[in-house]
Amino acid sequence: MKFRNFKMVGYVVYGRGSFNQLDEILAPQRKGDAPMIFLVDHFFEGKPLLNRIPVRGKDKVILADVTYEPKTTQVDALAKQLKEEFGTVSGIIGIGGGSTMDLAKAVGLMMNNPGSSADYQGWDLVKVPGVYKVGIPTLSGTGAEVSRTTVLTGPTRKLGMNSDFTPFDQIVLDPELTANAPANQRFYTGMDCYIHCIESLEGTYLNEFSKSYGEKALQLCQKVFVEKDTWDDTCDDMLMMASYAGGMSIAYSQVGVAHAVSYGLSYLLGTKHGIGNCIVMNHLEEYYPAGVKEFKYMVEKNQIEIPTGICKGLSDEQFNKMMDVSLGMKPLWENALGADWEKIMTRDKLRALYEKL
Ligand code: NAD
Ligand code: ZN
Repeated sequence: MKFRNFKMVGYVVYGRGSFNQLDEILAPQRKGDAPMIFLVDHFFEGKPLLNRIPVRGKDKVILADVTYEPKTTQVDALAKQLKEEFGTVSGIIGIGGGSTMDLAKAVGLMMNNPGSSADYQGWDLVKVPGVYKVGIPTLSGTGAEVSRTTVLTGPTRKLGMNSDFTPFDQIVLDPELTANAPANQRFYTGMDCYIHCIESLEGTYLNEFSKSYGEKALQLCQKVFVEKDTWDDTCDDMLMMASYAGGMSIAYSQVGVAHAVSYGLSYLLGTKHGIGNCIVMNHLEEYYPAGVKEFKYMVEKNQIEIPTGICKGLSDEQFNKMMDVSLGMKPLWENALGADWEKIMTRDKLRALYEKL
């Protein structure tokens, strides 16, 4: 048995208002007049947060269009633009949801690695460290702030650049930044964390490391989405730590059925990660009975609409493509169903599940 020796985030600052320390945090990382690049979720265009960014010298703020989840072409174009404009940069700071944080990680890596980001979709293909990278979440749930991957849609697959060079050097966890996110978005991204916990805790890869983080994250999600009747600051505080702990839990285990199936949806239909996981989770009683029951309760209590019928009218060819993408996620299936997963999750069974969504 070979144990995973995983690389973690370098520095963590947590607290309401900790964003105000960013200037001080960045100062020692500045290399001569090479700029810091702030990649900011386009949601913040015209919002007060933009004026709080500690821009100095040649620093540049770029608004990230995250209408669609990040693509390798988008990463390559951004890295090329920055190399042409500045040669080198002191660092990349991603401020936004999982999509913006993933973009920042990937662009940071591609500043120093040759070729296209698509060449590095997979495990441990990145050989050269990227530039200094900072992650600042404005939505809580994905765990992208702690993970060693950056999920990208490429020419042939949706797969992360998983490597020891991928985690951020610094993260700034300021729950004030997630206040006022729309209730639906907050729920979908929050449920990503809830589902990470269920998949990790119910998986065959479970160990005490994952369990201790997973149980804590699950408990925080339950406080926020089951126990609380109205949203307040403590919900933002708790969900930010749930996301962190949920990410730590899957770092030493793996996600499961909801993610494996949702990846197929997102590849073919462009369904976003959070909502896609919810659409799938709604139909997974067979695999996660207690989790799905509670999930449905949270949907109802928080008055969220989960789309249905999204696979209606798809062709055989389209179903096959989704199944290929999904069944390609071998570690996820193995974690969920054990070493004999291929005997359990046959193509017929998976097709029937997709048809229900
Ligand atoms: P997101 O980043 O895709 O953003 C969703 C929407 O919310 C966007 O329209 C965005 O502009 C908006 N938004 C962001 N912050 C906001 C705020 N404070 N208030 C209002 N609106 C705001 O959503 P997400 O769920 O955080 O991230 C999903 C992405 O994360 C996917 O691309 C997925 O692949 C990725 N992901 C990565 C990992 C990882 O480990 N790297 C893990 C899970 C998911
Ligand atoms: Zn997820």
